[in-house]
Amino acid sequence: MTEKKPLIGISSCLLGNEVRYNGGHKRDRFVTDQLSKWVEFHSVCPELEMGLGVPREAVNLHRANAKSGLEMITVKTGKNLTALAHKTSTRLIKNLPNEICGYIFKKDSPSCGLERVKVYSKGPVPERVGRGLYAEALCSEFSHLPVIEEGRLSDPDQCEHFLTQVFALWRLRESFAKSKASMAGLQEIHRRSKYLVLSHTTVGYSRLGRLVGNAEKLSAKVVWAQYEILLMQSLKTPSTVKKRVNVLQHSLGFLKDRLDSKEKRSVLKVFERYAAEKTSWDAAKTLLLHLLEKHEVHYLIDQFVFEPFPEEFSGA
Ligand code: SF4
Repeated sequence: MTEKKPLIGISSCLLGNEVRYNGGHKRDRFVTDQLSKWVEFHSVCPELEMGLGVPREAVNLHRANAKSGLEMITVKTGKNLTALAHKTSTRLIKNLPNEICGYIFKKDSPSCGLERVKVYSKGPVPERVGRGLYAEALCSEFSHLPVIEEGRLSDPDQCEHFLTQVFALWRLRESFAKSKASMAGLQEIHRRSKYLVLSHTTVGYSRLGRLVGNAEKLSAKVVWAQYEILLMQSLKTPSTVKKRVNVLQHSLGFLKDRLDSKEKRSVLKVFERYAAEKTSWDAAKTLLLHLLEKHEVHYLIDQFVFEPFPEEFSGA
């Protein structure tokens, strides 16, 4: 049986498919050689789906005035493809598999670019203020879906943040299916997600706790649906050293009566060094995990904060 993996949507050219306007591709090695071991891809080329063919005339984004929307115009012949681009985006988004847990967009593209795409208004010099039409439509429809441009995957912090969100969403949906949408299933995944959320936002941590408490006696399906949105909103806030120190200190609370004075000194020293950014999160969490295992604090050992996605990605 093949192992199930998260499904990620991706701009087709990033997988090496020759779908660009000039007949080329923009294969991203991290995506095709590493990420592909751990996730499945659903690739889309919106411009190909518009029926423009390969090769095709290049397009740009234009804005007639401050109040008007972005328009997609062909570079040489000046054809306005905006309506076709919107219609195609709507169709593609409607046909996206429900299982998609994230999206990787090709940067700078008038269709797929997520940010700082060139927009022409007055004169020949564009401003980098746009978002591709397909990317914009997709992000409006799925506002809590984790998204990133391929260029940002080479930044370890941004890559880690994206993968953390993707795997959190995937685990949640897997648990939803496995537990048949039961409240017990939600309570269990929430228990394991708590400190991961705390490492991103204390507000989200409190709100998710209240939601799972379900004082309003909502149906389990409604609570699951609200939980997914709130979890993803919470994890969109980046983690910081300060927030992770908070997680370490909370965890230490479970150990304080079990550690001898030597262990206490050594763990506090490592945590202080991490807070001062003189040692890594990996070093701090490895020591903590060692102590949690030694003193059999099972409640914390399986927290997702210690392995939010397959360890092999660490330092990617
Ligand atoms: S950036 Fe988007 S539209 Fe352009 S070739 Fe790649 S997938 Fe197609």
